[in-house]
Amino acid sequence: MTDTPLRPHARIDLAAYRDNLAALRERAPGRALMAVLKADAYGHGAVPIAREARAAGAEWIGVATPYEALQLRAAGDRGRMLCWLWTPDGPWRETVEADVDITVSAMWALDEVTAAARQAGRTARVQLKADTGLGRNGCQPADWPELTAAARAAEAEGTIQVTGVWSHMACADEPGHPSIEPQIAAFRDAVARAEAAGLRPEVRHLANSPATLSLPETHFDLVRPGIASYGLSPSPELGVPADFGLRPVMTLSAPLALVKHVPAGHGVSYGHHYVTPGDTTLALIPLGYGDGIPRHASGGGPVLVAGKWRTAAGRIAMDQFVVDLGGDAASAGDEAVLFGSGDHGEPTAEDWARAAGTIGYEIVTRISARVPRVYVGSSET
Ligand SMILES: *Cc1c(COP(=O)(O)O)cnc(C)c1O
Repeated sequence: MTDTPLRPHARIDLAAYRDNLAALRERAPGRALMAVLKADAYGHGAVPIAREARAAGAEWIGVATPYEALQLRAAGDRGRMLCWLWTPDGPWRETVEADVDITVSAMWALDEVTAAARQAGRTARVQLKADTGLGRNGCQPADWPELTAAARAAEAEGTIQVTGVWSHMACADEPGHPSIEPQIAAFRDAVARAEAAGLRPEVRHLANSPATLSLPETHFDLVRPGIASYGLSPSPELGVPADFGLRPVMTLSAPLALVKHVPAGHGVSYGHHYVTPGDTTLALIPLGYGDGIPRHASGGGPVLVAGKWRTAAGRIAMDQFVVDLGGDAASAGDEAVLFGSGDHGEPTAEDWARAAGTIGYEIVTRISARVPRVYVGSSET
């Protein structure tokens, strides 16, 4: 596909992605880096992003599900890889055979992975996840002695090798949050107890993007940034991407599908929640919630058209929405930029997040498969 196809598309700047990984590495010198590529690399495309992550020297790739890990193996990635979200009867054996590190948070999962390792006739690589306060996945402190002892026993018989102990932060994006210090202490305790049980994990890790950027005491052996690698700030409270030397990787744009003159008092889009205040020109943007544009941003989502910010006039529909150009001239085919780096005056994903009452993470991740990704700046060209 050419650089600027005449259809809506998401341009993915792979050079910016590699530069972001380099900037993140500077934040955690001497630590390994796990590039987090779950949810199709936050909407950026897991396979090409994985290639660039490795080109930028990422020692690890992290994904949520085993299916995501197997997709990357099928695409040829052979490096260290961790997945962490399992359900019973998951593809344990395939994942063991694919040489992916498997996260275990509970005894049922340890039982499944040890059974799969025996069937496969190989040693499974397992990382144990502690719940240090997030209250989501991970093993509670009360159950940790049983899990670590059972893991050590499986290790002694050669069924598994425990390669890591890790946990996940709850509020690292809120500077000074009172849960931060207790979580770090709980993690140190979980590691100490795992070591007392005889485990010798190769990596201990806790830091997501906000912790990588702002909490060096969470860096341990390895950091796991996701959103920051895509050039978005984990939260406006921490700063804007440029404060950390990060550049947004995704730019979402579309050619205008129609420009027309309408009289004053003309209702626009379903429900007529916008009515033209005077004679004006309306421009049609061929993207809607079927493409992942949040309908909650109706009446507020910003778009750069002909050098000016406009906002979605009325409802965002499944395939399209309208902006009021206030009488300015434009033509079908002119470029409308919904979000990008902001370097050329366009809105950012953070602006859309504000308009939709959500976070930048959701804005990029929800861009759907109908929108082609156009890759620029590949390390291979
Ligand atoms: C998503 C995720 C990350 C990355 O989080 P960001 O806030 O995007 O940096 C790291 N670790 C785990 C376990 C995750 O689920």
